[in-house]
Amino acid sequence: MSLDPRYAPLFEPLKIGPVTAPNRFAVAPYANGHSFLMPNGARGIRETRAEGGWGIVGMQLTEIDPTSDLSGLPYERLWDDDDVAVHARSVDAIQAHGALASIELAHTGLRSRGVGTGYPVMGPSSASTLRPEVPFMAKAMDREDIRRFRQSHRDAVLRARRAGYDIAYVYAAHDASLLWHFLSPAYNRRTDEYGGSFDNRLRLLREVLEDAQDAAAGEMAIAIRFAVHELTGPKAIRFDGEGRDVVEALAELPDLWDVNISGWQRDSGTSRYDAEGFQEAFTGFVKQVTNKPVLGVGRFTSPDTMVSQLRRGVLDIIGSARASIADPFLPNKIREGRVEDIRECIGCNVCVAVENAGVVVRCTQNPTVSEEWRRGWHPERVPVVTDRGQALVIGGGPAGLEAALTLARGGHRVTLAEAGAHFGGRVRHESRLRNLAAWGRVADYRLYQLGRMENVSLFTQSTMTAETVAELAADHVLVATGARWLRSGRGRTHRTAIDGFADAALTPDELFTGMALAPGLRVVIYDDDHDYLANALAADLAAQGLRVELVSPMPSIAAWMGYTLEQPRMLAELIDAGVGLHPNTVARAWTGNGPGQGPGKGLAVQRADTGAELPVIEGDILISVGLREPDLALSEALHAAGIAHRVIGDAEVPGPIQSAVFSGHRHARDLLGQEPEGGHFRRERPRLF
Ligand code: ADP
Ligand code: SF4
Repeated sequence: MSLDPRYAPLFEPLKIGPVTAPNRFAVAPYANGHSFLMPNGARGIRETRAEGGWGIVGMQLTEIDPTSDLSGLPYERLWDDDDVAVHARSVDAIQAHGALASIELAHTGLRSRGVGTGYPVMGPSSASTLRPEVPFMAKAMDREDIRRFRQSHRDAVLRARRAGYDIAYVYAAHDASLLWHFLSPAYNRRTDEYGGSFDNRLRLLREVLEDAQDAAAGEMAIAIRFAVHELTGPKAIRFDGEGRDVVEALAELPDLWDVNISGWQRDSGTSRYDAEGFQEAFTGFVKQVTNKPVLGVGRFTSPDTMVSQLRRGVLDIIGSARASIADPFLPNKIREGRVEDIRECIGCNVCVAVENAGVVVRCTQNPTVSEEWRRGWHPERVPVVTDRGQALVIGGGPAGLEAALTLARGGHRVTLAEAGAHFGGRVRHESRLRNLAAWGRVADYRLYQLGRMENVSLFTQSTMTAETVAELAADHVLVATGARWLRSGRGRTHRTAIDGFADAALTPDELFTGMALAPGLRVVIYDDDHDYLANALAADLAAQGLRVELVSPMPSIAAWMGYTLEQPRMLAELIDAGVGLHPNTVARAWTGNGPGQGPGKGLAVQRADTGAELPVIEGDILISVGLREPDLALSEALHAAGIAHRVIGDAEVPGPIQSAVFSGHRHARDLLGQEPEGGHFRRERPRLF
């Protein structure tokens, strides 16, 4: 197969200052959870993307010196010459595949920590740092501080050049850059030539760009990463105000404009709240203002949308973090006319969440990310076995689908048996909730691939028992029977059952299997899960005309969604939908007995902190979203019958869809002989001086 001519513009080279990108795909600088302490893993991630056809591969936010300390957060450092050699290894690996290597040099100003190095956090004016819960202040930079910062940034550009980078970024985005803080009237209250008027506030950014161009000396391109519009924080920079003024004032100074919106939670909008290409409304003007190439992001996964951005003069380069995490080979697949093979990002932000939790990047769609170096997992290749054994995978949810696909790619003859009428398991159900349709891609991608393979047999409406498993006499049996939501009220904070729940509560599983609730009913959802499902159900039911109360024993509703960056928007969605919110509220008992039960019936509750009694939350229907219990009935029957098998996915341990996919993949790789001995994958080891 070959490139569809419609997508040819995506493969036109583009000159960026003194360098030339081979195509229009760029891995935008993104946090990948691999700090400067994990350079091998980080290199593995980048090398794989370069191999997959991305024309520019970016290095994530990189501290330029100790005053820009982000201790404890997994970012890069290019503080001194010692770091140059480490960076050069990544650069070489990227360039070996014909891609350009870029680095996002940054001083994070008011977002720095200081506490790790003992140097003061620095900003344009004396102010608190941008983490209100952390008791540190920033020093107002004096002229000497400004001079030193400029010198330091310039030195970092020189080091980037020595490391071999093709493009160095000047970073002014995400409310996380000293240069942005100088620009913003919300932070900059100076009265000298660096404060006050727009030109004065812009001065430092202009000077640093000029310094960078001077240091690059025509051998390296200089990019600016600039957020043209703020949707969070002070909201002082707007695309129809000073955001545009900045682009106009600096239009031809950088070699490349990489533009987005601020803060990070809006830049990395999820599919639940933002459509593909959502940033165009804000960044669309930039190309009209500058003659330099423009790069932008927007969770692009469709080549039609990408090419439309190019044709309509919105962007010159399609930037991507998540699409490149989910499918490192996306560009090559388009180039080879294999668009249907793209493993599309579902926009769930699990990648963001785990990185926020300080863990290496994980992905719901791509189990191989972060495993490129340490486990040697390639996103497109698995070891191929010669014995071509028969594998029986039972359960067609994300774990079963992923295991079946990986084993089939490894050469096994695979039978996938699913009890229900459709494949997809929990993904099929959850993706039907309001605004979660993109999650269906987890099943769609795998089913499509499996459907094309001759060594795969797919069966629905095939409930397997120990007897039918024995009859098939497969060489390998994988049980992916999933997990079921508990009715009893047991959850992440309630270790025991709650009175009245076992008799009355509905579970998400019951709602998913077709139980319809009449509009007008009052529904109480008790969320002791603290992830997306309870609030997604609340939003869905409210949209269907039910009156919904969402109750959480934690002080903050859906705490994990703070990590996915969705919590503020989810709360706004529920408030707008009229959902009653009850954080910090513990269920004592369900006292209702069904629809039409009259006043005073519902969920008896108390305050989580003091234990004080609260008014009953009236309702007709109770939905309990607490713990899930592995469905091990088949596994137990197989044990009893002496049939060897392995349990995978949510049946092994209930978790996010990402961990079910990962489990299916890991077990399959193990069967293909690619799990390290004793589970000990390669480790990064700090050097001893
Ligand atoms: P996971 O996330 O681990 O993939 P899911 O709950 O999404 O788990 O999917 C499990 C699937 O297994 C469901 O679609 C369910 O219908 C199916 N299943 C459960 N028991 C059996 C069985 N005995 N035979 C075949 N399929 C089964
Ligand atoms: Fe996309 Fe989710 Fe993977 Fe992140 S974790 S890249 S949002 S599919």
